[in-house]
Amino acid sequence: MDVVPTTVESFDERLTLFGDDFLERLHTGCKWTEGPTYFPAGRYLLWSDIPNDRILRWDETTGQVGVFRQPAGYTNGHTVDAQGRLVSCEQGGRRVTRTEHDGSVTVLADRFDGKRFNSPNDVVVAADGGVWFTDPPYGILSDYEGVRAEPEIDGCHVYRVDPTTGQVRVVADDFERPNGLAFSLDQKRLYVADTRRRHFRVFDVDGDRLTGGAVVAESPNGNPDGIRLDEEGRIWAAAGDGVYCLHPDGTVLGRIAVPEVVSNICFGGPKRNRLFIAATTSVYTLLFNVNGARR
Ligand code: MG
Repeated sequence: MDVVPTTVESFDERLTLFGDDFLERLHTGCKWTEGPTYFPAGRYLLWSDIPNDRILRWDETTGQVGVFRQPAGYTNGHTVDAQGRLVSCEQGGRRVTRTEHDGSVTVLADRFDGKRFNSPNDVVVAADGGVWFTDPPYGILSDYEGVRAEPEIDGCHVYRVDPTTGQVRVVADDFERPNGLAFSLDQKRLYVADTRRRHFRVFDVDGDRLTGGAVVAESPNGNPDGIRLDEEGRIWAAAGDGVYCLHPDGTVLGRIAVPEVVSNICFGGPKRNRLFIAATTSVYTLLFNVNGARR
């Protein structure tokens, strides 16, 4: 086991942390890891290595890592839908796709109002099957993590794909760089990170509409990116030098230090008490006393 020192800190009595006091490095040698997502049925983790245009797969039963897909359309964020299918943001393909049980890939959305997206970054699937995603420009700024291109859409928005009609709607259009997103446990609120403004916002969800959008917290450190919730409804966020735990009221409750810049996280393992951390060249994991939100 490749072990890396960390510091696990709690700043507030509402969060008690215990478990591993080290990080286990599952894999290294990537360029920019992103989009970790865990498949409970198969007990494996997928993540993107964006500049290398590949998706990697870690097998929890053997510890082995292999290439799941390459080329991969420069995927970034992923999620698993209620049917256990992989849903992916492709920065290169500038689209959101779903990998079906037979292995075929279905395009869920590739344009709005006839114009191609910038480069979809992160995605969540709601209980009603709606697919919500963010669309900053990182995949078209250069050829490094996508394909350089001029934007076709004015702005970087948050979108929803209707599960029945496939229609795409803009649900928020006042972001600079929308990035990670996650629903509250009751799915009545949606949290979204704005990387450039370095804060997190919270919206009220009413069907396929969003209202509100207040800033719930400034980023504790660096650029905020991926976010996930635990089963208590607390927000776990990738931000700069670590993974931060935020109360829904915005209080920073705790921090797990990571030796590389963190991009994204997910909970996994059979009990959802294993935190997977994508950070620059590596993927780390920590087994602890916090369980991720149930699907
Ligand atoms: Mg991201």
